[in-house]
Amino acid sequence: MSVISEVMDRVKERDPYQFEFHQAAQEVLESLEVTAKKHPEFVRARIYDRIVEPDRAIVFRVPWVDDKGDVQVNRGYRIQFNNAIGPYKGGLRFHPSVNLSILKFLGFEQIFKNSLTTLPMGGAKGGSDFDPKGKSDDEVMRFCQAFVRELYRHIGPDVDVPAGDIGVGGREIGYMFGYYKKIRNDHTGVLTGKGLEWGGSLIRPEATGYGCVYFAAEMLTTKGQSFAGKTVAISGSGNVAQYAMEKVNQLGGRVISLCDSSSTIVDEQGICGEKCDFVLDLKNQRRGRISEYADKYAGAACFIGDSIWDVIKSNGLKVDVALPCATQNEIDGEQAAALVKSGCLCVSEGANMPSTPEAIRVYQDANMLYGPGKAANAGGVATSGLEMSQNSMRLSWSREEVDGRLLEIMKNIHKSCLDAAEAYGKKGDYVTGANIAGFLKVANAMLAYGIV
Ligand code: NDP
Repeated sequence: MSVISEVMDRVKERDPYQFEFHQAAQEVLESLEVTAKKHPEFVRARIYDRIVEPDRAIVFRVPWVDDKGDVQVNRGYRIQFNNAIGPYKGGLRFHPSVNLSILKFLGFEQIFKNSLTTLPMGGAKGGSDFDPKGKSDDEVMRFCQAFVRELYRHIGPDVDVPAGDIGVGGREIGYMFGYYKKIRNDHTGVLTGKGLEWGGSLIRPEATGYGCVYFAAEMLTTKGQSFAGKTVAISGSGNVAQYAMEKVNQLGGRVISLCDSSSTIVDEQGICGEKCDFVLDLKNQRRGRISEYADKYAGAACFIGDSIWDVIKSNGLKVDVALPCATQNEIDGEQAAALVKSGCLCVSEGANMPSTPEAIRVYQDANMLYGPGKAANAGGVATSGLEMSQNSMRLSWSREEVDGRLLEIMKNIHKSCLDAAEAYGKKGDYVTGANIAGFLKVANAMLAYGIV
């Protein structure tokens, strides 16, 4: 039995029900097998065992009062996974499905993703099982304040800098930052994703979606192709999906789908121009459902209860590029096979771990261009890193400057993945490349610190 499979066995034995965490750890550890052979010093220092165990996992009660005056109790979390190369950094997710397993998977992925950006950021993730959907602004504010009432003692600009994720956008960051500032009497860069007037960075809202498309464009270039004229399927209709859609349109592609957890809309004419403005207003201002798109635009079809990957499987829709931007495990093996059949040549993951291990095997067997989330969606956290730098310098860079840096970072991540894959005998394998390139820097730092 290999050192790595022994580590994986111990992970499962210690936390037998953390299935999402097992899935993330398995994928990373499998690709690190080659590093264990090349670096006996990592094995001696038990780096592999140490990297799968968070520095700490903080779990807390979040009591708050709803609009009817009733007391509600949610659970809050912050998983500070690894700060070997910089302060903890990673988003907060507010969604009813949130639990320790999901946050550990996300925090673990974040270690490697943050390392890949080349910026000095450790890995963390947090959130709550609170569901902002259907809540009034006042309720969301009271919840955010109650959440920060505990979180504030664990974070700080040089300690841990949270950001947004599912269910946490500009509104929630505003309420949390405002409350932190009030109780600490401190105006520092303790959260990213802030508004422009109070320390935010231009391009941060756009960064994950733009970065995912930049990464896909780099992958397409290796085959002499581009987005021009390509048909693109996008899932989700939140922050990442919206700006992926915008960038695909700018690069000359045709976006044909968006979804939320209730339905999928398909518009084969392309979702562009004023249709994009409609989506942004619907989702960000009116907080409505994506099915309203099909009510407004007669040419669009609406599939209630189906994801875009179901629609491709059952309707044989043709797509060239797939950008899953909703949630984990949204594409299974059969849906991946349907993507291959539809002629899809490239998958770039805006979401974290949206493809199951079976789906990834299908992509790889079909020699598709496959950009895993920890590389393809790293543009968001990279731009958060740029927001931290601007906060520390008390400067604001222009839109062009931040976008230029984002594009450069995504190109570098793409190159690091390919270089690491080739150096370890897996040419063209972005999964192995991303995991190894992200891991080596963190592992070397951990080694330098001794046993701590
Ligand atoms: P948002 O909350 O803005 O949007 C999430 C979107 O996905 C919504 O349209 C939501 O629909 C949909 N969705 C959520 N769960 C499901 C589900 N089970 N089935 C179908 N649709 C679902 O989140 P983000 O856009 O910020 O995040 C999307 C993904 O990108 C996540 O995996 C996140 O971890 C990842 N990511 C985000 C980053 C960021 O900067 N925001 C950075 C890196 C990764 P509904 O409204 O019905 O819930």
